[in-house]
Amino acid sequence: MKIAIDGPAAAGKTTLAKRLAQALGFLFVPTGAMYRAAALAYRRGLPLEEVEITVGEDGQIFLNGEDVTPLLSNPELDELSSRLAADARVRARLVDLQRKIAAGRDVVMEGRDIGTVVLPDAELKIFLWATLEERARRRHREQGGSFTEVLEAIRRRDERDSTRSCSPLRPAPDAVVVDTTDKTPEEVLEMVLRLVEERRARLAN
Ligand code: C5P
Repeated sequence: MKIAIDGPAAAGKTTLAKRLAQALGFLFVPTGAMYRAAALAYRRGLPLEEVEITVGEDGQIFLNGEDVTPLLSNPELDELSSRLAADARVRARLVDLQRKIAAGRDVVMEGRDIGTVVLPDAELKIFLWATLEERARRRHREQGGSFTEVLEAIRRRDERDSTRSCSPLRPAPDAVVVDTTDKTPEEVLEMVLRLVEERRARLAN
C-alpha cells in the first residue's frame, strides 16, 4: 500500500508520516528533506549531476553517502529548498528517485506533489492542512526567533510552492483533506489510521 501525505509548510506532515509509517511497518520517505539535501548540495557548490541522495530505513537522508539529516532543518534551507524546488531539472531528478524508492514497497511518502505527481496511484492520499497562524505557532515553538518573521517565511514559501508552474502544491482530486488546526498529533494519527483501515477494507472487497 502507498500512502501520500501532502500539504503546506509546517502542517505536521513529517510528524504524521513518521508515526504512521512506524505504526504500519511501512517505509517513511520525507521528500521535503530530499529537496533540502539538494539545497545543501547546491550551497556546497556540487553540480546537480554529482548529487546522489538516498533515504535510510528510518528516514535519514544521505548526500553522496554522508548522513546530512541533522543539517537539514534551518530557516536558510527552508528558503533555498523552496526556490530550488521550482526548477524543473531538480524536480525531474528527485521525482524519478522517489518513484524508484517506492517501487514494490509499502511506503508513507510526504511532500507537496506526492498525490498529484509522484504517486498518483497511491491507495490513500491525505492533504494535511492547518491555518497559517497555527502552523507559524508550531514552527516558532521549534525554531524560536521572531514570530512575525516565522509567519512571513511560511507565507512566502506557501505562495511560491503553490504558484510555481512545475508541480504546484495542491490537493489531488481524490485526497482527503485533514484540518489539524485544533488537533493534537495523536488525534491526527488516530484519524488517519482509521482512514487506512477503511481503505484496506474497501480494497479487500
Ligand atoms: O516539507 P519541507 O518544508 O521540508 O520542504 C522543503 C521545500 O521543498 C518546500 O518548501 C517545497 O518547496 C519543496 N518540496 C517540493 N516537493 C516536495 C517536497 C518538498 O517542492 N514533494
